[in-house]
Amino acid sequence: MAFRIHGVFSQRSEESLTTRESSLTKTEWQKKLTPEQFYVTREKGTEPPFSGIYLDNKEAGMYHCVCCDSPLFSSEKKYSSGTGWPSFSEAHGTSGSDESHTGILRRLDTALGLARTEVVCKQCEAHLGHVFPDGPGPTGQRFCINSVALKFKPRKH
Ligand SMILES: [Zn+2]
Repeated sequence: MAFRIHGVFSQRSEESLTTRESSLTKTEWQKKLTPEQFYVTREKGTEPPFSGIYLDNKEAGMYHCVCCDSPLFSSEKKYSSGTGWPSFSEAHGTSGSDESHTGILRRLDTALGLARTEVVCKQCEAHLGHVFPDGPGPTGQRFCINSVALKFKPRKH
């Protein structure tokens, strides 16, 4: 009987480590996402205007993060801005001007040499789009979000 013993079997590390979405490496994200999704969410890309699958989606439901499935925007706050990207007047969970219960975070983005406000997923830091102060209604905000960064789930009737 060939019986090889490698001493005490160790079961630590991998199993005891809980993997959070945000701790995935670049390579792991590349495996998990399509090239378009990776480019937009992990490399702060922007999909071409009028190309996104959710631009004209008027179905009732919730838009989730394509990376980690966190609920981000409700169809109730979606509107047609004419800019070529899905637009929302506020994030899901917003209460007045309080965004602490939403799935998003705001960050200053000076990438193009101008100050814009980037919108990222709170849970996995996926780049989603930007928010601009030219929106409709009481909030006056326009969340300009890439379709590629979202996964729509229709409301069950
Ligand atoms: Zn996410």
